Amino acid sequence: MNKSAIITGITGQDGAYLAKFLLEKGYTVYGLMPRRSSSMLWRLQYLGIDKDIQFINGDMLDLASIIRAINKANPIEAYNLAAQSFVATSWEQPILTAQTTGLGVLNMLEGIRLTNPSIRFYQASTSEMFGLIQEEKQSEKTPFYPRSPYAAAKLYGHWITVNYRESFSMYACSGILFNHESPVRGIEFVTRKVTDAAARIKLGVQKELRLGNIDAKRDWGFAGDYVEAMWLMLQQDIADDFVIATGRTTTVRDMCDIAFKHVGLSYKDYVVIDPQFYRPAEVEVLLGNPAKAKEKLGWEPKTNLEELIHMMVDADISRVSKETGII
Ligand code: NDP
Ligand code: GDP
Repeated sequence: MNKSAIITGITGQDGAYLAKFLLEKGYTVYGLMPRRSSSMLWRLQYLGIDKDIQFINGDMLDLASIIRAINKANPIEAYNLAAQSFVATSWEQPILTAQTTGLGVLNMLEGIRLTNPSIRFYQASTSEMFGLIQEEKQSEKTPFYPRSPYAAAKLYGHWITVNYRESFSMYACSGILFNHESPVRGIEFVTRKVTDAAARIKLGVQKELRLGNIDAKRDWGFAGDYVEAMWLMLQQDIADDFVIATGRTTTVRDMCDIAFKHVGLSYKDYVVIDPQFYRPAEVEVLLGNPAKAKEKLGWEPKTNLEELIHMMVDADISRVSKETGII
């Protein structure tokens, strides 16, 4: 049987890793892509799969385009990864964030309901929904307390997914993923900003690194490990929601230490605190409890933080070397 899957957010970090994973499993992979994203194929190129994806023009805000895309792809699985995904931007563009990150989920669910309700649906929920944490280790049972327009929009996406499952018996799952990173993470996110800076400073093309709240703590994992959990969620007998995390939390400060040490430097000599990177409301700490995923999906992270940050620094060293002609 020819298995097809459709991925929204195909040009993003997770879209690229998930597409690679599904192609290796023998799926035909369709990617919903706004026309403006056609110049954003660098992640798919980095993973060597840009020629293997069937792109379909469409936008999360345009239900008609979603319906056309689903009809064309005729998928057995739909992964909704598209979002305005950067927390800091969500205070600057809260309405766009609500539309893309929140209502976009409803457009996907309606698209599926109107075309083929048997398509299995994955929603990219987030640990940001825990925000001002109500429990030291956050699990599927921990109450939510969003702290940004992004998190509030994701909360809508989360609950509308649960609601469509309960209302229409659709196989709709929500993966509550904690932060996950990779060499193709957006440069605006703190890990990649740090690994890129460590590389540039080492190679002598940057002098300092300006950061905001370096006491914030995150539970960081590797995107390549986390996309497997997305797929596993859609292979179960019963649709359910899962926390995907490592169970370890680290400060931004200690993550900087890992990155700079890897190139033989001390972050203390280069990091400058700049209040422009403080957020109107901060999520101080996130720490996930992935016990349910381990028990029911058999999923565990394979890459620890040191391995992840070293992988990212090495990739940035090689990228910056090529860019600047240093090699
Ligand atoms: P990225 O920001 O890298 O990718 C987001 C994708 O969404 C991009 O391909 C982007 O296209 C696309 N997109 C944005 N707006 C629209 C639109 N209107 N119509 C169609 N596509 C659109 O995010 P990640 O890959 O890191 O994350 C994937 C998903 O998982 C997101 O929903 C994110 O919020 C969520 N998530 C991520 C976590 C993480 O740590 N990475 C943690 C928890 C949840 P373009 O390239 O043109 O901008
Ligand atoms: P988020 O968890 O989705 O917001 O992922 P980010 O990587 O954007 O931010 C993680 C944490 O790092 C947050 O608590 C930020 O406040 C903190 N942080 C500190 N300095 C910076 C910075 O310069 N850029 C970003 N993106 N985050 C920073």
